[in-house]
Parts: sequence; C-alpha cells; structure tokens
Amino acid sequence: MSTGTAVVSATERDEFNPFLAMAEHFETAADHLELDPGVREVLRTPDRELTVSLPVLMDDGSLKVFKGYRVQHNFLRGPCKGGIRFAPDVHVDEVRALAAWMTWKCSVVALPFGGAKGGVICDPRELSQGELERITRRYTASIMDILGPDRDVPAPDMNTNEQTMAWIMDTYSMHVRRTTTAIVTGKPLTLGGSRGRTEATGRGVMIACREAMKKLGMRPEATRVVVQGSGNVGGIGAMLLHREGYNVVSMSDMYGAIHDENGLDVPDVLRWLREHKALEGYPEATHLDNDEQLGLECDLLVPAATENQITSQNVDRVRAKLVVEGANGPTTVPADAILENRGVTVVPDILANAGGVTVSYFEWVQDRMGYFWTEEIVNSRLEQTMVSSFNEVDACAKRHQVSMRTAAYILAIGRVADVYRMRGVFA
Ligand code: NAD
Repeated sequence: MSTGTAVVSATERDEFNPFLAMAEHFETAADHLELDPGVREVLRTPDRELTVSLPVLMDDGSLKVFKGYRVQHNFLRGPCKGGIRFAPDVHVDEVRALAAWMTWKCSVVALPFGGAKGGVICDPRELSQGELERITRRYTASIMDILGPDRDVPAPDMNTNEQTMAWIMDTYSMHVRRTTTAIVTGKPLTLGGSRGRTEATGRGVMIACREAMKKLGMRPEATRVVVQGSGNVGGIGAMLLHREGYNVVSMSDMYGAIHDENGLDVPDVLRWLREHKALEGYPEATHLDNDEQLGLECDLLVPAATENQITSQNVDRVRAKLVVEGANGPTTVPADAILENRGVTVVPDILANAGGVTVSYFEWVQDRMGYFWTEEIVNSRLEQTMVSSFNEVDACAKRHQVSMRTAAYILAIGRVADVYRMRGVFA
C-alpha cells in the first residue's frame, strides 16, 4: 500500500540518478511505516537549498565565477551534518540525495544530527592550492549565515580534505571573531580534530563485515574479499580486514584492479599506492580492468569507490553472498532488487559507512567540551555504536521481513517521524 504521492514512476526512473534512488528507498520504507502523506512530504522535502555564485581571483589575474550549493535536508534531530565535495560534475540532484542520505545515516546510528551536503562545481586537478583556498574561503563566507556548530557542521567529501576544513574553520572564526573549532569536523588533530577520524569509516566497514559474517556463519579465514576503491574507505577497510585474517584477493582504484587468489599483501599494496599514486604496475599481482573485478570469485564484496557501480548491467556477474557498502549509493535500485531476490545479504551504505559520521560526531562533542579522548576511547565508542546499530537494523529486518536496506530506512525514517510528531507542526 502506498499512501504518499508517487514521486518516482517506473517510466521516469533513471537508474543512475541518486536522488530518484534515495526517493525510491524512502517510499518503500514509508509504506512499511504507513506514514501519513503529509509527514511523508515533510520528510522527503529538503528543508533549505542555497545556491551561491563565487567570484574568485585566479592565479593568472582573471576573475572566474564558480557555483556552489549547500542543501540542508532536515534538522529535526539536531544540527545538520554532511560533507562538501569539489567536482566538475556536482549537480544539485546529487547534493539533495546525499543530504537526505545524511539525515537517514545519522538517524540509523542514533546521532543527534540532521543531514546536509554541499558542493562546488570545479575541477580541483586544474586548480592551484591558492585558487582552492580562495574558492573554499569565498564559499564558506557565502553560506556562513546557515552554518554554525548548532546549525550545520560540514565535513570533507570527494576532493576536500583536512586542509579544506582548516580553511573553513579559519574563515568562519574570523567572521565571528572567535576560534570556533566545532564548525567543521575532519580537521587536522592540531586544530581540534579527533583521534581515529581518518580510519573511522574503514573501521566501521570492517565492523559491519564482522557482524554480518557472524549472522551468516562465515569465518574470516575462509572468506575471500574483493574491495573496490583503495582510498580512505577502501584502502583502510582492506587493511583492517587483512589484519583480522580475511583473505583480501582483489583491490582496485579508478585506473584498474589487482588480483591474487591466494590473498594480497595489503600493507605492501598500500605502500606501493603511497609511492606510485596508482595500483598500475604493482608487481605482485595479476592486473584486470575494473569491470572484470566485480565478476571475480569471492565471498564478500566491499564496493568502496563511488556511486552506481553494481548495476542492472553487471549484477548477474557478482558472485559474493555478502555485499557491504563502503561507498554511498554503490548499488542501483534495480541491481539491489536482483541481489535481494538471489538471497545476497547487502549491508546498506547508510549503516555500513556510518563510522565516519559517528567519529565526526565524537569530534564535535570533543570540540564543544574542549576535552580530547584517546584513540582507544574513540574506537571503543565507535565499536559500540556500529554493533548496536547493526543489531537494531537486523532485528528490524526480521520484524518486518525485509532486506537490511529497507530495515535501515524504516528505522531511520521512523525515528525522524517520531521526533516530528512529538515536536508538532510549527505555524
Ligand atoms: P577517496 O577519494 O579517498 O577514494 C576513492 C577510491 O576509489 C580511490 O582509490 C579511487 O581511485 C577509487 N575509484 C574511483 N572511481 C572508481 C571506479 N570506478 N572503480 C574503482 N575504483 C574507483 O574517497 P573515499 O573517502 O574513500 O570515499 C569513497 C566512497 O565512500 C564515496 O562514495 C564516499 O562518499 C563514501 N564515504 C566516505 C566516507 C569517508 O569518511 N571518507 C564516509 C562515508 C562514505
């Protein structure tokens, strides 16, 4: 039964549009929750969308105008939280989808945050450090009326990093005339960053793998793992899985994949990557292209690169019985349905990669207290959050007889809807 306005029809569906994918998962969960049509509309509509034009002086003396966005999807459960990405193909639909995913992700792991996302259309490969700094500072100044430790707290995302966060923190602090570390997370340690933040998403992915394996009766030493992407999430995730005794048989980056059926020496692969910036040429493994990697014989697949990687075109070749989504939106809606019909367990992105935002929350808490935790404390609190959230999603899946993805959305949307009902309609 669907009580809401259909926002996506089969004919309209574009397999690769992340906003439509998010909307489709939302509607499925909202049906299970039998959500009132009005509440449904409130929860699926972004609360605020800001588009800004950023005039920036380039190194050659010319003036160029960049376009930036900040979408705040929902702040019923607390300040908005979400990354900022710099990329030539940033699109407002993508930013909207990512903002909504942040609302559901924060809710599924019970953090007191809503969701937001930002982006600037630019190609960082063509920009100098100076130009990147000026874009970042101008973007911050242009959106700062809606930012703040109690309003909206950005973090890094694609092509932004600790340095970008340091510039945002400084620009904001200069405007408000006091150092405000809690305005962003993912900062350098010396500027109020948290221990364990860099590894947090990969660590969370490793914990999600471990909990799912227990549920399926799989043992790490008998598990062949394929990891797509070897950046912050994939590289660190592969390293931690390797340390736990899993057999990581393949890793990849945007240029190609490597494979060794007896297991890769992951620390050695990461050393090579640090030195050579790509897996290309790595001497101790067979090389394949990215599409071949997804069809490799394995038990566990960890897509940790980018969106729309497991699609209706290649899902039939996926052999794993467990998929743990390190990336946001790596599985398209049609591919997800096919995996579910085949009995493949998928631990969804909003749960599996929530370790990053969880430790971002810890960073915000530490900044506000002005008191910093040891790495052991950060890791043990992350562990508690991931394990209890996994178990809640698993129990919800059993209760509603649905996939873990639908269960995660049911749990997340249900929590936000409860808050909305209790707070009431402001008029
Ligand atoms: P990153 O830039 O550090 O690494 C991305 C990796 O994927 C690189 O190795 C890149 O070469 C590779 N890659 C890109 N396209 C590929 C392709 N088509 N095939 C194979 N490899 C490809 O990024 P990251 O921070 O590791 O983020 C990866 C994903 O995880 C993104 O979807 C991101 O939104 C999501 N995520 C990241 C975090 C975090 O804390 N970093 C948290 C939650 C979710």
